[in-house]
Order: sequence, then C-alpha cells, then structure tokens
Amino acid sequence: MLLAPVEYARPSSVAEAVRLLGAHDGARALAGGQTLTNVMKARAAAPDVLVDLNGLAELRAISRTSDGGLELGAMATLTEVTRSSEVAETRPIIAQVASQIADLQVRNRGTVGGNICSNDPTNHLPPLMSALGATMTILGADGERAVPAVDFFLGVYTTAVAPGELLTKITLPATHDRRDGFASVTIGKDGTCIVNAAASVHDGQAAIALGCVAAVPVLLASASDEDAVRSAVRGAKLDPPSDVHASAEYRLHLAEVVAVRAVAEAST
Ligand SMILES: Cc1cc2nc3c(=O)[nH]c(=O)nc-3n(C[C@H](O)[C@H](O)[C@H](O)COP(=O)(O)OP(=O)(O)OC[C@H]3O[C@@H](n4cnc5c(N)ncnc54)[C@H](O)[C@@H]3O)c2cc1C
Repeated sequence: MLLAPVEYARPSSVAEAVRLLGAHDGARALAGGQTLTNVMKARAAAPDVLVDLNGLAELRAISRTSDGGLELGAMATLTEVTRSSEVAETRPIIAQVASQIADLQVRNRGTVGGNICSNDPTNHLPPLMSALGATMTILGADGERAVPAVDFFLGVYTTAVAPGELLTKITLPATHDRRDGFASVTIGKDGTCIVNAAASVHDGQAAIALGCVAAVPVLLASASDEDAVRSAVRGAKLDPPSDVHASAEYRLHLAEVVAVRAVAEAST
C-alpha cells in the first residue's frame, strides 16, 4: 500500500528537529524508516509531519567516553555499529548482535535509536541495552535528561521518549572486566526472534535481560552458574505470547535455554 500524504521536514540542526517535533502534535521522528514507513503503509500510524533526522551528522557519532565507556549516536546505523572500531574495542557484543539483525538492506538503513525507540518486543537491541546497563539521553524543549534502560522501555512500542522529544544518544558504561553474551532462537537464520537473552557477567554475577517474553525486556540478577540462572528465569514474572511460531509454554522453556547460553557465552 502507498503512504498516505504526509508533511515532511528535514531539519539542519538537532535544536531545529526538537522545535519541529514540539510544534506539531502529530509529528514523528524519521530515522531509517524501516519500521515507521511500514506501519504508515499499513495505516497503523498516521503522523502529520515526518521530521527526518538523516541530515544530522552529530546524531550519528560513535565514540569512547573519557571513563572508558561508549557512546552511540541514536542515528548510527546497524551497519555502522558492526564496523565501528570503538564498538569492537569496548562492547563487541553490540556489533555481534547488530550483525544478526534482518538483512544488509535493513541494517544499512535501520538505526540503533530507531531499534530501541520502536521497542518491538522481538527486537534485538532493547534486551541487549538493558543487560549492558545503557543510559539513554533524551532531548526536549525543556532540555536533556538521562534515562537508564530499566526506566526507558515502558510497554510494547512505547518508551520514555515523549511527544516532542528526541533520543540523541545511548551511553554504555566502561566494562571493568565485564563480559557480555547474547543468545536467541529465531524464525530461520537471522529472522525475527522467538525469544532472546542478553547477559553481562562480572565476578560470578550476571545481569540478564530476556526479550520476547513480556512487553518490555525483563531484567534479572543471578549468580552465573547454570542452576542459578535457570532458577532466576523460573522465578521471573514473564508473560510470553502464544502465536504460530511458539506457544507461551514453549517460549518459557526457551527463555531458560537462551539465558543459560547467553551467560555461558559471557563467561567463556
Ligand atoms: C524486514 C525487517 C526485518 C527486521 N527484523 C528485525 C529483527 O529481527 N530484529 C530487530 O531488532 N529489528 C528488526 N527490524 C527492525 C530494524 O532493525 C530497525 O531497527 C527498526 O525498523 C527501526 O529503526 P529505524 O532506524 O528504521 O527507525 P524508524 O522506522 O525510522 O523509526 C521507528 C520508531 O522510532 C522513532 N524514532 C526513531 N529514531 C528516533 C529518535 N532518535 N528519537 C525519537 N524517536 C525515534 C520513530 O519516530 C518511530 O516511531 C526489521 C526491520 C525490517 C524492515
């Protein structure tokens, strides 16, 4: 289906983008368009104005922070993340996971910010950013605020980014010898996740985030041995869907499996 008529704006600065988003009730940021244009074509979203962020180079930067962490501009594409030396040096798991998402065309257009702002429960990056302890920087007319991942993902397709606001960057803390892992069961190779888990392990303790089993990533803390991980997943409040790909019961079983695998990957 063709797009319905929509106003289009291409700001030349981040400040102008925020002004445009705040000036129109029905304005939406346009990043890679890999989700937004599809839902618009399906008439599941009908923004009045698209504020195209693609001209804003400052939102695309990937850099190290002075304390050894990593900053990902919201408009960095998934392909740019997979090729970034800064990502490879600090949190290589992000490149590894980004390279598993869909296909090259989607990765060339799709952005880190768009992936987490769309917060589709089957997306790869929301659980990864949750397990890694990311902080999201959100800019609006009243200034900037930093929101930890645990408070960022609010519901299916809903995040802490309010109307009129923009996600500008994602900050990952320094690893301090943390090791990270990710595991998923997908529909075919590199297909949509049926269930996924990300883990970050330090000193025998794991932060684990489960995806596809609730509206938002489910964050757990556990010792890193297999029995402890299984018991943490069993004790978590999960609400997986049942669909043609997997029943809720099977997803609960897989959640345990991928959590164990993600922690094992992080521990080796
Ligand atoms: C065929 C196909 C298969 C896919 N499979 C997977 C998959 O298996 N796993 C996976 O993780 N992803 C998958 N994706 C999603 C893809 O990875 C993109 O990340 C995702 O579509 C959104 O990124 P985008 O940059 O295209 O955002 P857009 O589609 O442009 O935007 C998505 C939403 O986020 C908002 N938004 C975007 N950037 C910002 C910002 N900086 N500030 C505020 N709001 C913002 C938009 O307003 C919109 O509501 C798939 C996409 C396609 C088309």
